[in-house]
Amino acid sequence: MSYPEKFVYRFGKTVTDGNKKLKSLLGGKGANLAEMSTIGIPVPPGFTITTEACKSTIDNQMNWPETLLEQVEEGIKNLEKEMDLTFGDPEKPLLISVRSGAAVSMPGMMDTILNLGLNDEVAEAIIKKTNNERFAYDSYRRFIDMFGDVVMGVSHELFEEAIESMKEEVGVSKDIELSADHLKELTDRYKAIYRKETGHMFPAEPMEQLKFAINAVFNSWNSTRAKKYRQISKIHGLIGTAVNVQAMVFGNMGETSGTGVCFTRNPATGESKLYGEYLINAQGEDVVAGIRTPKAIAELENRNPDIYDELLSYTRKLEAHYKNMQDIEFTIQDGDLFILQTRNGKRTGTAAVKIAVDMVNEGIITRKEAIKNLVEPGHIEQLLHPQFKESSFSDKEIIGKGIPASPGAAVGKVVFDSQKAEDAEGPVILVRIETSPEDVGGMSSSEGILTSRGGMTSHAAVVARGWGKPCVAGCGDIVINYKNQSFTNGEVTVKEGDWISLDGNNGKVILGKKELMEPDFGKEYETLMQWVDEVEEMKVRANAETPEDAQVARNYGALGIGLARTEHMFFKPGRINYMRKMIIANSEKERVAALENLLPFQKQDFVEIFEVMEGLPVTVRLLDPPLHEFLPQEESEIKKVARELDVSPDMLQKKVDQLKEFNPMLGHRGCRLGITYPEITEMQTRAIIEAAIELSKQGQKVLPEIMIPLVGSVEEFRNQREVVDRIANEIMTEADISVEYKVGTMIEIPRAAILADQIAEDADFFSFGTNDLTQLTYGFSRDDAVKFLPSYIETGILKQDPFQVLDEEGVGQFVQAGTRLGRMTNPDLKVGICGEHGGDPDSINFAYLTGLNYVSCSPFRVPVAHLASAQALLKLKTDEEAPEALETFEA
Ligand code: PEP
Ligand code: MG
Repeated sequence: MSYPEKFVYRFGKTVTDGNKKLKSLLGGKGANLAEMSTIGIPVPPGFTITTEACKSTIDNQMNWPETLLEQVEEGIKNLEKEMDLTFGDPEKPLLISVRSGAAVSMPGMMDTILNLGLNDEVAEAIIKKTNNERFAYDSYRRFIDMFGDVVMGVSHELFEEAIESMKEEVGVSKDIELSADHLKELTDRYKAIYRKETGHMFPAEPMEQLKFAINAVFNSWNSTRAKKYRQISKIHGLIGTAVNVQAMVFGNMGETSGTGVCFTRNPATGESKLYGEYLINAQGEDVVAGIRTPKAIAELENRNPDIYDELLSYTRKLEAHYKNMQDIEFTIQDGDLFILQTRNGKRTGTAAVKIAVDMVNEGIITRKEAIKNLVEPGHIEQLLHPQFKESSFSDKEIIGKGIPASPGAAVGKVVFDSQKAEDAEGPVILVRIETSPEDVGGMSSSEGILTSRGGMTSHAAVVARGWGKPCVAGCGDIVINYKNQSFTNGEVTVKEGDWISLDGNNGKVILGKKELMEPDFGKEYETLMQWVDEVEEMKVRANAETPEDAQVARNYGALGIGLARTEHMFFKPGRINYMRKMIIANSEKERVAALENLLPFQKQDFVEIFEVMEGLPVTVRLLDPPLHEFLPQEESEIKKVARELDVSPDMLQKKVDQLKEFNPMLGHRGCRLGITYPEITEMQTRAIIEAAIELSKQGQKVLPEIMIPLVGSVEEFRNQREVVDRIANEIMTEADISVEYKVGTMIEIPRAAILADQIAEDADFFSFGTNDLTQLTYGFSRDDAVKFLPSYIETGILKQDPFQVLDEEGVGQFVQAGTRLGRMTNPDLKVGICGEHGGDPDSINFAYLTGLNYVSCSPFRVPVAHLASAQALLKLKTDEEAPEALETFEA
């Protein structure tokens, strides 16, 4: 039958409607189940209800769209045919699982129900069929627990308490030691809990169970924890979750059954070896929830080499098919292996880079695919995570060792409560027995996470890795006592507020606050960045104004300096008072005298920076901030500085008062300073050109670019350019040597952007100062917006902070117009961006689309920006159009 709107897509051996491209409609899980069915991976059959059905249901007060029920019933019929079983049948019953699955994976955020279709009659049928009463009641009691918890909101803890007291009563310590009779009794107790908590009998009719379950998944899309995860992870634009209904396969059928999760490569280090965990005689949730501590996948190789080899062959097939490392869930049912899920695996920065380079070398992907698909800007950023200094602690200080679940080093004060982590002022380490989706807010606010239970795939581990946060999981050496707000390893007790250090690389928990150091990148990083350099068109420069920062930037691959804020140079001790003398000068003569004292410092700064950046352009911006920023404001400070300057405190106070402005960011700053005090521009030009001449004489290649700030009109620019050119020419004539230099301007005032054609006639380059441009376009004060931006983001008025991610819709129009108009009158105009946005991957993508020549960002973001620049190109251009990463390069 065909429907005007298709809400159900089947997958299985006989018929598969979907494929991996339909992620937004079928969710990641659904699309991949369809894809795996097509390529011959053993997937239990099922169907996926679309995200559109979810949206329609939510939009219509939980009423299903007209034909959904009919389509679901047809989906079930197909499933019955494939499995040769019948839903609710007392002879050959079909059991199913119901899972959510959105287009973007949200680990543990949404809800899963297994064994749906069970009731008393069906349980008996299963016993008859399998001769395994224990299995039937184990499945049944799990179903009641999951259904109660997920669908009806009955606390999972009540069921946990019931199983714990049952174990105590019969004197066993593990779930698997409970007999069939115990589990049967437990099933009745679970039903009683359900009835007491909900006021209803547990629903026996399978189709009714299914309808409830589908609605629960739809509802979970808007649960607080799902919304919070989307907010923290900045997931926008999804319409809802899909629902996957799938025939059950059982990992809890005895010793020849089991269930597990594995990564095709190590997600922490990238090592090319199957990595994962599994449990014998268990169902999926046991592994993921971190309740029983699972065995390493390597043990499967010893215990059941045939199954292991079969698993390995599927993982290889899936990797080659998806051209990416996969995160797989599998179940072994009585010796038969099934793959229940595959998705691109989350990984650390170190692993991402190694996997990308290894996969190219193994011939699975091309270099361009490696850059475009296998490494995210966040991975590169993670690589810059600090590590502990080798000698910073002794073995005695190690108070526990857990699973190194997410790398990097973290130090913070211990908190045991997620809300406290969110509210804390300083750095904190969140310590929990295990985490759940309710903890994501606190996890996000913490420097690192420590859990005493759970493995590599526990909630804490998965979420932390996704965010690049250090995490030590399953640290059984410690016992956490929430009531006392402390944990102990038997010898040392650590209380809330005590400092600890976590090493996510090796699982160590260290007492106290340990010293951190910068990381080592590894040889694959060099290889990848070399490929990136060969592909990228839009270049990356750095914002730096000290030789040290310039050196860091150059080491990280900066291809020039895009912004040297000269005012930072004046804050150094030994200079600040000359600067102050210049500011409080009562005459031009006094001002010039003070500036003469500043000149040698300034020149020496430029000599050193030009030397470090030899052969690369260095953009030096002339003095920009309002002058009051250089003067003391407090009375005691004024007195002290007055003494140092040898002036009266009254006089200094008067100057401070005179310089006070209502709106300093709109006041006497930027080129307005150089226009009113040309001697400042003269001195700075002199320092730049003299430094350039000095190095040129030594045979060094120096490329200074002098940048005028805060220009709003061509007249302002002309005024300052005239000063710069005059002084530069004077000096060059005097020295009888000429150096190449450029004069350009910041475009950071909207007026300048829309009159860019006029300014570009006289300017050699533009650099968008998107910090000020955002401030002036929105009318948001850079300094005061923190007061309202968080609530703007919370209420959805803004999706993100426009000072971090460029507002393409508004501010972006000025960037586009400025670039287009500027190049209209000056086709050779070099255009860049040097606001904070120059280091933000989304804004870098926009800069590339706008046709900018370069972005400039803080030295530590240079590698991230390189990757984002190359990715922007690869997203836009086809493989043939994109420049080749030289195949001759030796990895
Ligand atoms: C800008 O405004 O974007 C800029 C780079 O300059 P500053 O932040 O120094 O004002
Ligand atoms: Mg600015």
